[in-house]
Amino acid sequence: MKYTIFKKYFPYLLTACVACSSGQSKRPSNEEDKAFSAYTDHFVTALWKQYPSWATRAGYHAYDTVLTLPTPENAVKNKSFLQAQLDSLSAYPLDRLSASQQIDYHLIENRLKSMIWSEDTLKSFEWDPSSYNEAGTFAQILTGRYAPLKERLRAFGKRLQGIPAYYEAAKKQIKDPVPELQALAIKQLKGGIPILSTNFADSIEKADLSAEERKAMLMASENAVKAINNFTDWLSGLRSTHPKSFRLGRDLYEQKFAYQVQANQSAEGLYHSAIQRKNYVHGEMMKLSKELWPKYFGNIPMPTDTLVLIKKVVDTLSVNHASAAGFLDTVRNQIPRLIDFINQKDLLYIDPSKPLTVRETPAYMGGVAVASVSAPGPYDKGGMTYFNVIPLAGWSAAKTESFLREYNHYILQTLCIHEAIPGHYTQLVYANQSPSLIKSLFGNGAMIEGWAVYTEQMMLENGYGGNTPEMWLMWYKWHLRAVANAILDYEVHVNGMSRAQALDFLINGAFQEQAEAEGKWDRVTLSSVQLTNYFSGYHEIYQLREDLKKKDKDAFNLKKFHEQFLSYGNAPVKYIRELMLN
Ligand code: ZN
Ligand code: ZN
Repeated sequence: MKYTIFKKYFPYLLTACVACSSGQSKRPSNEEDKAFSAYTDHFVTALWKQYPSWATRAGYHAYDTVLTLPTPENAVKNKSFLQAQLDSLSAYPLDRLSASQQIDYHLIENRLKSMIWSEDTLKSFEWDPSSYNEAGTFAQILTGRYAPLKERLRAFGKRLQGIPAYYEAAKKQIKDPVPELQALAIKQLKGGIPILSTNFADSIEKADLSAEERKAMLMASENAVKAINNFTDWLSGLRSTHPKSFRLGRDLYEQKFAYQVQANQSAEGLYHSAIQRKNYVHGEMMKLSKELWPKYFGNIPMPTDTLVLIKKVVDTLSVNHASAAGFLDTVRNQIPRLIDFINQKDLLYIDPSKPLTVRETPAYMGGVAVASVSAPGPYDKGGMTYFNVIPLAGWSAAKTESFLREYNHYILQTLCIHEAIPGHYTQLVYANQSPSLIKSLFGNGAMIEGWAVYTEQMMLENGYGGNTPEMWLMWYKWHLRAVANAILDYEVHVNGMSRAQALDFLINGAFQEQAEAEGKWDRVTLSSVQLTNYFSGYHEIYQLREDLKKKDKDAFNLKKFHEQFLSYGNAPVKYIRELMLN
C-alpha cells in the first residue's frame, strides 16, 4: 500500500479489516480466553472514549461530535488511562491464552507502552506541527456511509465548533518545531480546508435541513477556517532560534523502531542486513545484465562500469510497456492470470467467492498512489474492497511516457502481485477469517508490507513471468527500492547522511530516476522508521520460510506454509515465527 496524506494520521486503518468475516471465528476455548476476550472488548470501548478522533477514523462513530483539545491537562488524563490499561492487562496470564490472544496481548502491551513513550520521551506534539490536523477525521464523517447525511452533517457541525479552541491549545504545545514538518503542516492544513468549507457547504446544500441549522453550520465552518488560517499564519511566522532537526538520532530511532516494527532485531541489525541484501542484488543484476546485453545491444561493446551497464539494460527493457489508454485494462487482465497461476502451482488457497474489483482511483482519494487496495474498516460490515489504479487522464505526453516506462510490462506485473494477488488483497482476505479487532486496529505494518514484498519474489521463484532474465532483472530493480528505503532511513536519521549523498545513493546505487529520488528524500525528512517496514517484514518472512524448510526437510510444503502464516492475521512476524517454529 502506498503512502497517502491521511495515512500519516492514521497509519493502521488502511491495512485493517475484519469486516467481511467468513463467520468461522475461533471462539475462546477456556475460561482464561473468555475473560481475556471480554477484557479486549472493554479495552477498545474505553480506548474510543478516551481518543474520540481515533475512534471516528477507525469507523466507530459514537464520539463523532467530540473534539478533544490538545492541552497538558488532557495529556495527563491520557497517560493515566494508558497506565491503568497496562496494569489491567498485566493481570492476564499470557502463557495460558490461545495463540491468537497471545498476539493480541503483545499488540496491546506494545501499543500502550509506545504511546506512553511518545508522550514522555518522543514528544512529537512539541516539534511536529503536522500532527495537529483533523481534516482526515472530518473527511471520514463527510464521506462515510454509516448514517444518513443529515446526521453526519450535524455531528460534523458540532465537532467543527471545537476547532478554534483546538488551534489555540495547539499553539501552546509547539516548541522549536522541525522546519520541514512546519512547512508540511502549513501545506497540509491549507489542503484540508476545502473539506471544512466547500465540501461541507456542498453537502449542506443537498441535505434536508432547516434554514437555521444551515446557518449555524456555515457559521461554524467559517470560524473553523478562520482559526486554521490564523494558525497557519502563526506557524509561518514562527522562527525558532534552535529548531529541532528532522533527524531522529540513534536512541530515539532504535526505540521507535522497536515499538513500530516489532522486529526480531535492532534497527542497526536490520540496516546491516539491508546493506548485505543490496550487495547481493547488485551482483545478481550485473550477471543478468551481462547475459542480456548481446540480445539487446548485439556487438556494441559492454560498458565497463557495472552500474552503467545495469542502468542501460534496465532502460532498454522499460520501453516494453502498456499504452495509456490500455493501462487500466492491462491491470484488470492480470488478476485472473495471477489466480490461475497460483492455483496451477498450488501456492495457496484463493477464495473464489471474494473477487477483487479493479477501478480507477476515485478523485476524493487523491492521485498519490499508483495503485492501492482500499478495504472497509473493522466497523464497516458490508463495505467493498477495491483495487484502485491511478487515472492517467489529463497528463502531458512526457509525463505519461515516463510513468508508463516506470510501470513497464515487467514492473506492472510485480505491482499487481504486491497490491492484489497474492499480496495485500489476499492477505486481507485471510486476516478476515480470524477476526480480531485488536489485530485489525494495531496490525503490524512490517508484516503487511513484508508479505506483499515476499510474494513478489515467491511468484517469480515459481516461474511467474516465464522465469526470464528480463523479468528477474526488472524485479531486482523494483525490489531494490524496498532495500534502499531501509538503508536510507537509517543513514539519514542515525548516520546523518546529507541530501546530496542520499540522491547519489538512490540514483546510482538503486537505479532510481531523479524525481523519484527527490521525492524519497522529502519523505525521509518527514517520516522516520516507516520506510523500513517493507524490507524488515520481507527479510523476516523469508528467513522464517528458509528456517522451516531446514527444520521440516521433505515435509515442508509451501502452500501449507503460506496458509498457516496468513492464518495469524496482522501480527508481527516475530510472534508468528514463535508459533510456527514451536
Ligand atoms: Zn504495499
Ligand atoms: Zn514508450
